[in-house]
Amino acid sequence: MLLSGVIILIDRLYYTDSFLTEFEARVVAISREAGNIAVTLDRSAFYPTSGGQVFDTGWLELPGAGDLQRIRVKEVAENEQTEDVLHMVEAGADALHPGTLVRGTVDAERRRDHMQQHSGQHVLSAAFEKLYGFLTVSFHMGDESCTIDLAGVAVTAKQLESAEKLANEVITEDRPVEIRFATPDEARAMGVRKIPPTEREQLRLIEVRDFDLNACGGTHVRSTGQIGAILLRKTEKVKQGVRVEFVCGLRAVRTARHDFETLTEAAAVFSTHIWEVPQQVRKSLDEIKSAQKAQHRLLEEVADLQAEHMLQVAADRSEYKLVVQFFPDRDLGFLKMLAQKLTRNGKAVALLSCGGSQPSLVFGQTPGLANDMGALMKQTVQQLGTRGGGNRDMAQGAAPDSTSAEQALLQAASALA
Ligand SMILES: [Zn+2]
Repeated sequence: MLLSGVIILIDRLYYTDSFLTEFEARVVAISREAGNIAVTLDRSAFYPTSGGQVFDTGWLELPGAGDLQRIRVKEVAENEQTEDVLHMVEAGADALHPGTLVRGTVDAERRRDHMQQHSGQHVLSAAFEKLYGFLTVSFHMGDESCTIDLAGVAVTAKQLESAEKLANEVITEDRPVEIRFATPDEARAMGVRKIPPTEREQLRLIEVRDFDLNACGGTHVRSTGQIGAILLRKTEKVKQGVRVEFVCGLRAVRTARHDFETLTEAAAVFSTHIWEVPQQVRKSLDEIKSAQKAQHRLLEEVADLQAEHMLQVAADRSEYKLVVQFFPDRDLGFLKMLAQKLTRNGKAVALLSCGGSQPSLVFGQTPGLANDMGALMKQTVQQLGTRGGGNRDMAQGAAPDSTSAEQALLQAASALA
């Protein structure tokens, strides 16, 4: 997929040979582009970011010079107006001047990776189109994985599996991948699906023999076998259709290894085989749920007993019983449960607090009593410098620490009617 820049430019050496990674060229210009030093050459094998494929990196060397004259090319971009290829370089650029002869070296490993991803994308897109008529509307190559966007409402797991299988069969067949040039009319007659809007006379076409023909300016392998493999990953719904993530070649191996190591680690935790991990996880989640239910039942029983006891020993105010209690080791959930139990029968006011990892306060009263718990809580948290609130009968708030959670209760009790 690459619809911009499919015109033929003789100074772009990768147009006719994607495997050329060393070349000689002369410096044409040196400029500053957004804080970078950009070198323009009279010819270059460096690929500039365009059409979904990311840039090459590498080096510019001054022939005959020592190591110091090796200048790193950290990024390559295309000036869309002038069509110049801009080589963004790191330190050492002051040795370069218009006319300087340089030797360019493209990072061959990075280039090979990009060829595997891009050629893999052509094969995968053609597989989706042949099998289901899903058209690829965009391609993105990332550092970790690549994506294509398919125009369509949904892609099923079965369709993904079938497209992956067909693409890998085409890879196994090791079909030639060839660069062809044609006029837009010729390309149309050959059945090229998307003819890019261009005033140029010649288009660059990438053909996967008897499988796919596409206008593209990217770098590609010589035969599908060099793609190695295609591994489809997750899908996601996007505005223009469905985004399919994939990795090719050595990235596919790296990704599969990472998956395997992750699963192996998870399997070791459960002392099981990696294929049994999902059912072990489900089993553990079920066990956690039952344990939580059992714990909740027990806490209810504890709260019932505690409420009963607390009401028996509570101080008698004229209209209600007053319970004031700090729990160093309970949590907010327990306080709320206990406050409900203390105030649902008879007439009582409960001022409760806890320490622990989240020191909290709960104030509650039997509905109908004259106090306003929400207002009392607001007043309390204001003094503590925290947050909280509630309604007339039940309120909760936070305390900065255990000691203030305990001390705040006495002050709140003295403010009650
Ligand atoms: Zn392409």
